[in-house]
Amino acid sequence: MPTASASVLIVDDEAQVRKLLEVLLQHQGYRTLTASSGEEALAVVGQQPPDLILLDIMMPGMDGFQVASTLKTDKATADIPIIMLSALGERSARISGLEAGAEEYLSKPVESTELWLRVRNLLRLKASADYLKSHNLVLEQQLQQRTLDLERFRSAMDASSDAVFLINRSTMSLIEFNLSACTVLGYAPDELLHVDLADFGDSSIGQLEVLYDLIIAGDGPTEPIETRLRCKNGSYVPVEIHRHAYKTGDEWIIVGVVRDITNSKESELRLLKMARYDTLTGLPNRNLFYTSLQMGLTQAAQSGGQLAVVTVNLDDFKHVNETWGHLIGDQMLVELSQRLSDCLNVDDTLGRMDGDEFALIVMIRDGQTDSVQMVARIREALRTSCHLEDHDMLMTASMGIALYPDDGEEAHVLIQRANTAMNRAKQVGRDTFRFYTSQMNIEAMARLEIEAALHEAVQTQAFQLFYQPKISLIDGRVCGLEALLRWHRSGYPAVSPAVFIPILENMGLMTQVGKWVIDSVCNQIAHWQRSGMAPLQVAVNVSGLQMLEGDLIADVQQAITNSGIEPYWLEVELTESSLMENTPHTIASLQKLRAIGVKISIDDFGTGYSSLAYLRRFPIDKLKIDIAFIREVTSNPQDAAIARTIIELARTLSLQVIAEGVETHEQLAFLIANGCDQVQGYLFSRPLPLDEIEVLLREARYFI
Ligand code: C2E
Ligand code: MG
Ligand code: MG
Repeated sequence: MPTASASVLIVDDEAQVRKLLEVLLQHQGYRTLTASSGEEALAVVGQQPPDLILLDIMMPGMDGFQVASTLKTDKATADIPIIMLSALGERSARISGLEAGAEEYLSKPVESTELWLRVRNLLRLKASADYLKSHNLVLEQQLQQRTLDLERFRSAMDASSDAVFLINRSTMSLIEFNLSACTVLGYAPDELLHVDLADFGDSSIGQLEVLYDLIIAGDGPTEPIETRLRCKNGSYVPVEIHRHAYKTGDEWIIVGVVRDITNSKESELRLLKMARYDTLTGLPNRNLFYTSLQMGLTQAAQSGGQLAVVTVNLDDFKHVNETWGHLIGDQMLVELSQRLSDCLNVDDTLGRMDGDEFALIVMIRDGQTDSVQMVARIREALRTSCHLEDHDMLMTASMGIALYPDDGEEAHVLIQRANTAMNRAKQVGRDTFRFYTSQMNIEAMARLEIEAALHEAVQTQAFQLFYQPKISLIDGRVCGLEALLRWHRSGYPAVSPAVFIPILENMGLMTQVGKWVIDSVCNQIAHWQRSGMAPLQVAVNVSGLQMLEGDLIADVQQAITNSGIEPYWLEVELTESSLMENTPHTIASLQKLRAIGVKISIDDFGTGYSSLAYLRRFPIDKLKIDIAFIREVTSNPQDAAIARTIIELARTLSLQVIAEGVETHEQLAFLIANGCDQVQGYLFSRPLPLDEIEVLLREARYFI
């Protein structure tokens, strides 16, 4: 660093000294300036700041200390090194000089070599300090510039609606991101920095590493990748990611620019929806219906299930359009499609095939009755008139049903056959339905007819109770009765309860009819007791549904209270199979019945596969051996063995046992020999209407 061209200000009141120092310094190549007083020195420094000052202490006016402290307290001059000169060799003067801010101290007379060394060293120090200072200044400027650049970069990044991520390839960590990144993914900035890359989406770290290396090698994807990213709340946002790599130092940085494409996805979906759904009614259109049907058929094929395709064509809809205009026609279609939707079960599908043509996929659980019930529901739903623009309009429909797999196994075949059936319904006068297979029409019509008749029978209480006596094998006399339901359908032969009871159950009417049976029997018992007849236990048959869907307990309790009878005169017969349906619920119900005090009997025993463990937990009084084992009890050793076992079982469990369907003396003899308690059957009496059973009871005869 050249110090020789430096300038030195010599301040001394003595001209001789000034001259000497000038000569000495100039000899070394320094430029010199002089001042003869403190005041002059300050003036020179003000005009021409030197690189160093040689400052005499003892001067008239302003002395060296004052000059030094003035210069050192001024920021502009504080860095100029000062060497104090004085004849005073005292320590105190040195310290005062240093205190005033001087860097060095020289005694007069000045020794030339020492002067040079001191001057040179101080100037070097100053030069390096100056250098550092200017270098710092440059650094500071550079830093400011960078900060400014970075801020511009950041605000540019933050202004972008795309999310930007910078990822360090070697650490596979996120090192920088913009505000949109936080917004899109729902993280606060300090949270986002700590999220693992694998948590953002469907790719593992390993997969990302492979992808990044491809990008670094220049073999990455050229088009943006469409994928999805996981947000903080666990939801996914569909995105398009464009990635590229750049190197900084030894590190590769992957820049990911991520665009949220939710909106474009939504509009895509809307388009898709428009292509698959009917715009007027919002129902699946023909295409989607067809696809759903194909899916339904695949499912049904796998599970061995059945389904029905029902096509619904409004009758004479053209007339509505022509008379009232298309606007009203459209409103009507919307209203009717809503009513049709309301008829569906959860797993059924409704679609609009064409103008006034709808189609349904009905999942079948209970044979053809499901589809018959569906068309019945639809007819019922259409029966209410549409009120549009102050007009009441009635609409009917013709429907056709094709069944999988009976009528076809492919979607288009089934639709076509349902349409054929629907056209037949139109031909026979509309407002009706037809199956594709004619045998089904007959069965379905019969079923519909019987349902309608039963419906009416329930309304008009057209049921009756017959009573069949139970005979005690101890004394051969009537010990009880069983009430059996009868339905006399005018103009028809008697229908067996074994036929109509399941239909009533299916129609949801059994609990209502069952309640009527219980009420009637209790009232009958009360009536007989009031009229002075010997009290008798009367059994009612109870359907499993009365226990599962209805409120059997409340019905029984109410009937007993209303009739005023003692509860033990009422016996409840429950079939073994109905008991096995929902055993925990059944046990609870039986316990409540038992608590009321009624007798409980298991009907059709031996057919329901109850385990002994259950039997012990059911609070029951009696087992009734099923008619199936009695029929051939004298000829079939297996049936005989079963009957014997049931009697034995009842005895072990301290239950009573009765045999039903006893028609011959041989059967009776077998039962007596094996210790059965009671019998019931045509051998003694058929089920009889009220007046006849009363005659029989009054006779009080011995049957054995
Ligand atoms: P169940 O309770 O086992 O009734 C016995 C059935 O066998 C009755 O038929 C009865 O008439 C018949 N039967 C009686 N003795 C003989 C005989 O010696 N030989 C033959 N072959 N049959 C005999 P029914 O009255 O047709 O009743 C059939 C079933 O319907 C009953 O079987 C019962 O499960 C059900 N049922 C009848 N009435 C009601 C009722 O009010 N409620 C409920 N839930 N079910 C009822
Ligand atoms: Mg019975
Ligand atoms: Mg029975």
